Amino acid sequence: MNIILAQYHGMCFGVRDALRTTHTAAQRGPLTILGQLVHNPLVDRHLVTLGAQRGDLDDLNSASTQQVAITAHGASDRHRQAWHSAGHTVIDTTCPLVRKAHQALAMLVNEGYQPVVIGQSQHVEVRGLIGDFPAAVVVLEESDLERVPTHPRLGIVSQTTQPVEIALRLVDAIKRRHHNSEVRFIDTVCHPTKQRQTALDDLLRDCDHIVVIGGRNSNNTRQLVQKAAAHGMPTLQIEGPEELDPAWFCEARNVGVTAGTSTLDETVDGVMQRLRQIAAELRTTPVHEFLRSMLHAA
Ligand code: SF4
Repeated sequence: MNIILAQYHGMCFGVRDALRTTHTAAQRGPLTILGQLVHNPLVDRHLVTLGAQRGDLDDLNSASTQQVAITAHGASDRHRQAWHSAGHTVIDTTCPLVRKAHQALAMLVNEGYQPVVIGQSQHVEVRGLIGDFPAAVVVLEESDLERVPTHPRLGIVSQTTQPVEIALRLVDAIKRRHHNSEVRFIDTVCHPTKQRQTALDDLLRDCDHIVVIGGRNSNNTRQLVQKAAAHGMPTLQIEGPEELDPAWFCEARNVGVTAGTSTLDETVDGVMQRLRQIAAELRTTPVHEFLRSMLHAA
C-alpha cells in the first residue's frame, strides 16, 4: 500500500495567524472567543487549557471577560461595533481573505448591485458576510435560485471555502435565468481552498482510496470529502489517527491523504505515521490472517 500526501493540504495561513493571535491574547489575560475559533476540536481543547472561554457573537451577555476574540471566519461590522460599544477589547482574527470577500460585497452594494452570496446560509462566515446587507440572498443549490429577485444588476461573491466549480456553475445558472440583467461575479474563493481542491484532483487521478483529515463541521473539509466521494472514490473522513480502521485498507493500493485548512500539522503527521504502520502490517500479513486478527481485536 502506497501512501501519497496531497501537495497542498492542511492548515492555511489564515487559521495559523488566528491561532497565534488568540494564543497570545489568552496568555495576556482572560479571553472569550466569540464562536469556534476554527472548526477543529483539538484546537478547542487546547484553548480551554489556556483558560479561553467560549461566547456567542450574537449575545453581548455571553462574555464576562474584557478581551473578546472574533474568529477567523469574520463578523459583520454591526457585530464588531456592538462589542466595542459594550466596552470590550475586540481582538479581531478575521482572515484577510474573508475581509476581501466583505470588501467585494460592500463594493457591489455601493455600485447598486443586488447582493448574492454563494455559500451555506447558516455558516458563520456567510452570516458575517450578509450581516451588514440584509437584502443579500444566499444560494447554494440551483433550487435556491428562485429566491434571487429580478434586478437589473446582480452582484455575486462566494463563501471563501466553496469549490470554485460550484460557484461558477451557479453563476452560469443565474446568468441563464436573468439574461436581461448584468451579472457580475467577484471570485472570493480563497487561494488555499483552491490549492487544496486542485491537489485533490491529482490524488483522484493517482489513487484508489482517499483519507480526508479535518473537523466534521469544517466546510472546506466537507467539500474535499464530497468531491472525492462524487468521483466514486472510497473516501474516509477522520479527525485523528485513532479513527483509522486497518480493515478499511485491505484492498487499497494507493491511498491519497489530504486535510482541511483547520487541521493541525501534528494531526497530519500522526495519521501518516499510523498509515505507514498499517501499510507495513498489510505487507507482512496474509489478508485472511489480517482480517481474522482485526475481527479478533474487535
Ligand atoms: S480557508 Fe481561506 S479564508 Fe478561511 S482562514 Fe484559511 S485562508 Fe482564510
